[in-house]
Amino acid sequence: MKLIPSLIGGEDVAGARTAPVLNPHDASEIAQLALADASVVERAFAAARAAQQTWAAIPAVKRGEILFKACALIEERAEELSRIVAEEAGKPLKDARGETGAAIQCGRFFAGEGQRLFGRTMPSNTPNKYAMTIRQPCGVALLITAANTPAPNFAWKAFPALICGNAVVLKPAEDTPISADWMARVLIEAGVPAGALNVVQGLGAEVGPLLVEHDAVDVVSFTGSTRVGREIAEKAGAKLKKVSLELGGKNAFLVCDDADLDKAARWAALSAFSNAGQRCAAGSRFIVFDAVYDAFVEKFVAVARAQKLGVGEDCDFGPVINERQLDVMLRLIERATESGARVVTGGKRARGELAKGFYIEPTIIEGAGPGDDLSTRELFGPIAALYRVKDFAEALKLANDSPYGLTACIHTRSINCAWTFAQAVETGVAVVNAGTFGSEPHMPFGGRKASGNGTREPGTEALDVYSELKDIYLVIDPA
Ligand code: NAD
Repeated sequence: MKLIPSLIGGEDVAGARTAPVLNPHDASEIAQLALADASVVERAFAAARAAQQTWAAIPAVKRGEILFKACALIEERAEELSRIVAEEAGKPLKDARGETGAAIQCGRFFAGEGQRLFGRTMPSNTPNKYAMTIRQPCGVALLITAANTPAPNFAWKAFPALICGNAVVLKPAEDTPISADWMARVLIEAGVPAGALNVVQGLGAEVGPLLVEHDAVDVVSFTGSTRVGREIAEKAGAKLKKVSLELGGKNAFLVCDDADLDKAARWAALSAFSNAGQRCAAGSRFIVFDAVYDAFVEKFVAVARAQKLGVGEDCDFGPVINERQLDVMLRLIERATESGARVVTGGKRARGELAKGFYIEPTIIEGAGPGDDLSTRELFGPIAALYRVKDFAEALKLANDSPYGLTACIHTRSINCAWTFAQAVETGVAVVNAGTFGSEPHMPFGGRKASGNGTREPGTEALDVYSELKDIYLVIDPA
């Protein structure tokens, strides 16, 4: 069985224990993960500290060239990475290929930022005094990622952190450690100094706090659940560390009475079910005008029932990431029905061949109260909840009645409704006539309320996460 070690200073480092890595499609064991302990964490930060200044001393343009080379290598071997992702995350290969492409695109964007890592020059109120800002690396960046789209998740953080001149300690999700190990090795092969990119493998609850609280960390960037994000913010906050949190969502999808219902139903299904609903930006609350409710639901249900589960090329989506997650979904559905909600379609673990894996049917539920768990908790599975509203004002109010504020989408032909919605919805992303997901690597992504702490990654805004601004005043003596 293949062992996935931590990768520190370019060396494989085992832990005292291991844990199995499963393919969620059929629960087969595909690798053993070496679980890092405190001594591995110490080694990782020592390596990062030792390498950081040498990496930062390489001009940013040259760092960019190294990262461009890494992207070229990933592209050359894209099929290999896609197959790893498809297996460890249990997804159709075509989805994994798309994600590999997204990771490369993100990498190239940040490699190019090596030529643009600029500060500003500003006028001074004093003669012969010049004022400017420059960007400097934070130092050591701790990057903690989620399992849902492992390759872009890696790229989204590692490339901006590195282009800014930081040394990185990255902890990937324990369910998808293999792609992170593969990508880190490729970046090192491309010329990133070994100690500037370290991967610590392990269980989040175990090794996470050791990483976050370590004094060597200058900036923490975390993508994951709001619960863990809050814990990280507390620990890092106590030490006044810089923190960027990309957290969960409970995203609203509005269908107005003038919407193109066929198009809305297709986008609704993609928002709710693609990647098995495991997107922070997945559509979760479908808020539909009374006048078109029945017609929309009929179309949405038809698309949902036509979804093909599995990992084959003709499949729409695969399993959820692990058995624990599957059980959470099934319990939530059961609790919702006990409190009066009705399963319109789906709601069960998939049967037959797929029963070996962590599959859940595409599920649509109606009749959940706005305060119920189903309406307020992030599900992270292929589950859509329906709400009937009388008009735009009620729809907008319900969309904003959420602890989360990540993304939202509206289907309408009215420019007034579209624009009012885009302005008034309390989220970091608003979409008109498409899905709740679909962020692009050059755009700043992030959420309000419990979806984040106000930072934005990626886009050039990520450079603010991974660099410190320094003011420089230069006073010259013309004589
Ligand atoms: P999770 O919070 O359980 O785990 C995320 C990462 O944190 C993993 O690497 C995990 O090992 C680690 N971790 C767990 N406990 C930790 C601790 N105590 N200290 C430090 N690290 C710890 O989340 P998940 O279930 O893997 O991922 C799903 C979540 O990620 C969802 O909430 C989803 O919305 C969110 N997500 C957000 C974005 C975004 O950009 N906003 C993108 C993708 C996923």
